[in-house]
Order: sequence, then structure tokens, then C-alpha cells
Amino acid sequence: MILLNPGPVRLSERVRRALLGPDLCHREPEFGALQERVRRQLLAVYGVDPGSWSPILVAGSGTSAVEAMIASLVPREGFLLVLANGVYGERIESIARVQGIPHRSVRLAWDRPCSSEELARALGTRREVSHLAVVHHETTTGRLNDLESLAEVCRGAGVELLVDAVSSFGAEELDFACPELTAVAGTSNKCLHATPGLGFVIARRSALARGCAPPRTLSLDLLRHHAEQERASTAFTPPIPAFYALCEALRELADGGGRAARRARYVALSERVTSGLRELGIEPYLAAVESSAVLRSYRLPPGLGYEILHDELKKRGFIIYAGQGGLANDVFRISTLGEIADQDIERLLGAFAEIVRAEGRTAR
Ligand SMILES: *Cc1c(COP(=O)(O)O)cnc(C)c1O
Repeated sequence: MILLNPGPVRLSERVRRALLGPDLCHREPEFGALQERVRRQLLAVYGVDPGSWSPILVAGSGTSAVEAMIASLVPREGFLLVLANGVYGERIESIARVQGIPHRSVRLAWDRPCSSEELARALGTRREVSHLAVVHHETTTGRLNDLESLAEVCRGAGVELLVDAVSSFGAEELDFACPELTAVAGTSNKCLHATPGLGFVIARRSALARGCAPPRTLSLDLLRHHAEQERASTAFTPPIPAFYALCEALRELADGGGRAARRARYVALSERVTSGLRELGIEPYLAAVESSAVLRSYRLPPGLGYEILHDELKKRGFIIYAGQGGLANDVFRISTLGEIADQDIERLLGAFAEIVRAEGRTAR
């Protein structure tokens, strides 16, 4: 089955084989060494300075990493502003609500960017804001939010930036030299091409030194995980096979030319999908310049429902992804993460042509 959903991804054979590593006790030095290797490799993806930044691994999905970041790095006396232009921005708002963090959320239309004007306006009326949380790649639509322009507004207001980079880490640009950037949350099973099971946060050491005390959470307390991982230890039982897979997937990423090469590969594949679908009258939801390299959403052709499209593609060996929330009846999504070959995309486009023809409909 070819997975075209935004994670979990189709694994490469070398990553799949790595899952079968030896049994390990997490209280033995062998695990400590494995964890250290993975932490170093994560920093190396963006050439991040280990003197200023600490990579902290958290068992769980991408949401666990985002929740750990928000709960642990907004201090008790802090105030969080959330900019949301999709499901994942709204999820950060839910996290703040559940964690009882003083916050305000600005919900923007899903077909619009998180604009710096909007942010400036929100900060103008809320002088107590200490942190801004934003999604880098809003997977709801495939939109890449412009972190640089948001960081500029934060600079003027003395606000720190917490970024959900769950679906962009490993492919899209992230500027760790940006002084406003305080932490980035990511996951093993999207652009890094490993299995689900591990989230991580790369946080400024200075922010970890302050953090939230007393903690709002026990198992997602980054300060606690950081303290343990700094001495090659672990707070709780880690998902060891997921560590094996992530370690190998990060080696594979480096062997393939790193993040820039991976992004270029995604761009090539999604351009091919876009041009092939366009020939069938299926148009992208966002302009290419607004889209990430990771995922694009497309308008469902008139008369062709998502269920039929999904089921017909699944019969032919492909999993695509539905639109979320208010877009469920309008769009479908295709991401090109994971072990996808050029021929897979050609077969996909062949399958689309068959289905569109059989349904006797094109948009034109
Ligand atoms: C996938 C995703 C998440 C959450 O991921 P889970 O692994 O399902 O918890 C959070 N943010 C973004 C932007 C995502 O794409």
C-alpha cells in the first residue's frame, strides 16, 4: 500500500529492518548511547548548536511533543497567544485550555496566512503576551506559515516563539538563529520517515532553565525529561524500537543529502502530482507559492465524492487523506512523505484518470 497521508509514512527497507534491533533495558548504558546518538542526529538535521539548544525526546505522537512544549515552556506568570489558521493551530488552543494556561487565541480563516498585521494587532491589545504559539506547516490545508515575518513582530514586542513543526521538521526551512525562536516541536513519523512513537522538542537551554515551575504535567514535563536525558538517562520507559527506527531514518536522511535534498524530492513529486491532476481538471486549493513541499490539498471535482475517490484509490493500492472540518466536502489531500518512487506517482495518476473517467466527470 502506498501511503499518501501526512504520516505515518511508508518505511524504507533499511528503517523497517532497524526495528528488529536487540532487546535492550533502558537502564543500561546501551540505551543511553542510543538516545545520545538520536539527540545528536536531530540537532544535525538543522546544524543546531548543542551549546544553546537541547533536543528532548518524548514518547508519544506529535501532539504529545506540542503539548509538552506548551505546558513546559510557558512559565506560570506567562501569557500565551495562539495564532490558528487550521486544525493544528486550534489544537494548540485546546492544549492551552486543558492545561489551564492563560491564553488568547486568534482564529483566522483556513484559506488565509497567519499574517504579521494580524499578529501586530493582537499583540497591540494584549501587552501581557509573553509567548506566541504557531503552526509552521498547517497540515489542514498544506499552507506554510511565514515564521520569519511573525518573528519580526515578536521581536518588537519581546515575545518568544513556540513552533509546531510536526509536519515540517526535516524538510522545510527553520531558522534556529532567529533570536525569538524558543522551541520547535517535531515527530519521528512525518518528514523524518521513521515509525510513530516518538515526539521531540528542540528547546533553548535558557528557556529550559526558566520553564514552568511547578510543572503542569508529570509525564510531559520537558524540564524533567531534559534533566534525565542530559545525563544519558530516561524518566520513563522509552519506545525502544521507535528509537532504532528513528536513528536509522536520520542516518538515511543524512546519506541522501540531508534536509535540502529531501525537500527538493518532495517538491518534485508534488509538482508531478499537481500537473497530472490538473490535466484531469483537478485544481490545487492553494497556490503553489503558499504551499509546503510536504502536502497539498486539491479541490474535489464536482460530482465526485471523497468516499468514492478514496475507496477506488485504495482498491488500486493508494491511501489519500480527507479534508478536515469545514473542508471535508471540498478538498482531499496528498502528501509525498516516505518511501515513494516516481513510478508510484505515475501509477497514482493513472488510477486517478481511470476513476475520473469511470465517474464520467471532469471539472471542465
Ligand atoms: C500531524 C500533526 C500534529 C499531530 O500529530 P499526531 O502525531 O497525530 O499527534 C500536530 N501538528 C501538525 C502540524 C501535524 O501535521
